[in-house]
Amino acid sequence: MVEDTKENSLKCICKSCPSKNECMASGDGDFLYCARGKTKCEMAKKGCICGACPVREKYKLQDYYYCVNGKAE
Ligand code: SF4
Ligand code: SF4
Repeated sequence: MVEDTKENSLKCICKSCPSKNECMASGDGDFLYCARGKTKCEMAKKGCICGACPVREKYKLQDYYYCVNGKAE
C-alpha cells in the first residue's frame, strides 16, 4: 500500500502524464492516485507514465492507470 505522504506526492509524475486533462490538473491534490485512489474527473486513456515513476520503484508497483482503477493494493 502506498502512503499519502509529502515525499511521495513530490515524486509523483502524474502531472507530466499525457492522460492528465484540464479537469485533473485543476483539482487540488488530483494526483498520486496509487495512494489516493481514482480521479473524480472524466478521463480518456492517452498513455500512463507510472512506469517511469520513483514511487513505483519504491513500492514495487506492477500496474498502471491508478487514476482510473484506484489505489494500489
Ligand atoms: S506510480 Fe503513478 S500514480 Fe503513483 S505516484 Fe507514480 S506516477 Fe503517480
Ligand atoms: S496514474 Fe498513470 S495514467 Fe493516471 S495520471 Fe498518473 S501516470 Fe497518468
